[in-house]
Amino acid sequence: MEYRKLGNSGLTVSEISLGNWITHGSQVDDPTAQACVQAALEAGITTFDTADVYSNTKAETVLGEVLKGVPRESIELCTKVCHPTGPGHNNRGLSRKHIMEACSASLQRLQTDYIDVYYAHRYDPHTPLEETFLAFADLVRQGKVHYIGVSEWTAAQIEQGSALAKELRVPFIASQPQYSMLWRVIEQEVVPASVQAGLGQITWSPLAQGILSGKYLPYSAVPPGSRAAAKAGKPFFNKLAGHWLHDDVLTAVQQLLPLAKELGLTLPQLAVAWVLHHPYVSSVIIGASGPEQVLENVKASGVKLDQDILTRIDEILGKWIERNPVLTG
Ligand code: NDP
Repeated sequence: MEYRKLGNSGLTVSEISLGNWITHGSQVDDPTAQACVQAALEAGITTFDTADVYSNTKAETVLGEVLKGVPRESIELCTKVCHPTGPGHNNRGLSRKHIMEACSASLQRLQTDYIDVYYAHRYDPHTPLEETFLAFADLVRQGKVHYIGVSEWTAAQIEQGSALAKELRVPFIASQPQYSMLWRVIEQEVVPASVQAGLGQITWSPLAQGILSGKYLPYSAVPPGSRAAAKAGKPFFNKLAGHWLHDDVLTAVQQLLPLAKELGLTLPQLAVAWVLHHPYVSSVIIGASGPEQVLENVKASGVKLDQDILTRIDEILGKWIERNPVLTG
């Protein structure tokens, strides 16, 4: 495993992180979650990503339990606040009240005294940004949070947040957007704004939720047990991947297989390596429904891709690559 600095900060993260959206506390049982985390630790992953909302808060509980006993200083534990965690009108958003309460609840579930990177999971248009950043600044001063990040914020929102963070002298260091060979909407606006603000990207869904693993074949039923096997509305499938489960997209993805083979990589490894190729990326968060996926995907760390490969990937995926910055969020 190789390691990178997170943005302009002094914090080091593993260039591959393990996330537990959809998996821990939901799709996979606790022993499998434990095995995935164990495989990650053995492979040198030190950065773990979760959120209070994942599996209705169970994902944090599972992660806290399986990381119990791991020296706290040897890992970076990251979680998020914003999406609803209860029915009440203050169980959501980025108000001071919810941030303070959500942080205490996350610390308890994660069985830790502090969060390394605490993210605003989305932008909250119903709360003044000053209120949000002051709450974050207070958490930093209290030692409950070490660094601040945001997820799926636009360039303009990042700029506003950065100005407040400077004024309040809090370390605002990370942006967490979706980024993959198929989804590149951050490149035009979010990345330049982040570089300017000193944020590193910790990106999600490098395999486009499994589409870029190559296991979904065109004109075929989805593999049993896969994330897409339970369709929209059922627990393990997210609408984000829906538009990629399309025969033309899946045919293009199959054409990447010989290219990966040429490099001595599997397709999941090529997909993760493609994200890591970009210097503004500090870490790629992988998801896994079993330890064998972790062990396979971590081998993308340290892989170098040359321009010829990047060009051929772009030619193969062609019009299926989404680049419109308006889709951020
Ligand atoms: P990926 O795109 O890496 O998809 C992971 C899924 O793909 C696995 O659960 C598995 O699903 C399948 N897969 C993984 N490796 C392989 C392999 N080698 N071969 C075949 N199939 C494979 O990432 P996720 O969508 O899971 O997102 C990763 C993390 O990013 C999340 O856990 C979360 O921490 C973060 N995230 C953040 C968001 C945000 O808004 N900030 C939003 C979404 C995610 P299966 O086996 O079930 O088919």
